[in-house]
Amino acid sequence: MPQTQVGTSEDMLAELAGWVRQETPTTDAAAVNVLMNQAEAGLAQAGAAITRIPGRDGYGDNLLARTPDPSAARNVKPVLMIGHLDTVWSHGTLGAMPYRVDGDRAHGPGIYDMKAGSFIAFHAFRSIITQGVRTGRPITLLLTPDEEVGSPTSRTLIEQEGTASECVLIMEPAATDGSCVTARKGVGRFALHVTGVGAHAGSRFTDGASAIVELARQIERIHAMVDLAAGITLNVAPVWGGSRPNVIAADAGCEIDLRVPTIEAGTQLEAALLALQPFDPRCTVRVEGGMNRPPMQEGPANLALYERARSLAGFQLGKQHRGGGSDGILHRSARRADPGRPRLPRRRSPRQPRTHPVAPARPPRRVAGRPLGDPVNPWTATTTLPACCSAPGATSRNACTASPR
Ligand SMILES: [Zn+2]
Repeated sequence: MPQTQVGTSEDMLAELAGWVRQETPTTDAAAVNVLMNQAEAGLAQAGAAITRIPGRDGYGDNLLARTPDPSAARNVKPVLMIGHLDTVWSHGTLGAMPYRVDGDRAHGPGIYDMKAGSFIAFHAFRSIITQGVRTGRPITLLLTPDEEVGSPTSRTLIEQEGTASECVLIMEPAATDGSCVTARKGVGRFALHVTGVGAHAGSRFTDGASAIVELARQIERIHAMVDLAAGITLNVAPVWGGSRPNVIAADAGCEIDLRVPTIEAGTQLEAALLALQPFDPRCTVRVEGGMNRPPMQEGPANLALYERARSLAGFQLGKQHRGGGSDGILHRSARRADPGRPRLPRRRSPRQPRTHPVAPARPPRRVAGRPLGDPVNPWTATTTLPACCSAPGATSRNACTASPR
């Protein structure tokens, strides 16, 4: 088994702090690219083969780094690691929530989702190259700029590289116990637009047809589709409508988040939402959107990957199913992708609740398998790659589930 020295937890944490202090909201391509530049420089210096894909549509660049050993790449599919460098946090968040280390946890905007995981992938990859560790398979690292808004410009790349790889490790955070994720719900995003008949609420009340009332009834109908036993959830937020209290609302609308455990459920619920009809014949209802990410269902392949990671982890590595989507779903669905399927128009400014808590993280400590402060023992190349989803040391709730995905 090849051995890789990964250095001390303190060194890893210090470098990670630099990543967190570089604020990278998805909507600021230049800011994301500053961190992308930093990662590229480190990988290039190590000797990785780099491909930088220029950003488009207002998003930052994608970065592909490959291990430089041509003999290993000849006939063997690589292991692909994916991390995103963007976060849901706006510029200035660091002022209110500065990076800090509290005991064995490091806090900071985006450290949990998912700079810690992306950094660990970067660090492991770089260590393997600089130390000349020969691995059984080539390794590809893909760093993306737009995961938090549904990966509009990285999706094709993820699908291409995922299809060409033996397995894909998504470095997103896991649960408080460090379990990795072997199944995820599929995610659908929709927008519901209601048009009513505007009228003065005092003098012409009966002439109006309130879009807001129609929307309220539609929301009740949508929430009646929730089936917790089947793992199907729908959430309506945000909502909007009307102009002023004395005017019957001519327009109203909402967004809808759909989570499903199976492809069949996704197809069924998508059809139901797109077919919504108005209660009031004077109103019109229009729904746009669709399934953004299909579910990642547990199967023999990812269970085998999990079992391998568990056997190598050196600690108790659990597994779990999650409701939140991730880019790990995309490569699994590449062959099923339907490019003609309607998708929700991309939102340029993901709305992040100001009260969204800073998610604590302690990645270097537990990923290294040693308490913070101890030198890290030699690590095998394989065990540097947490299985199929997540940095095993990541903690607290998954901010992904609250982000616009
Ligand atoms: Zn994430």
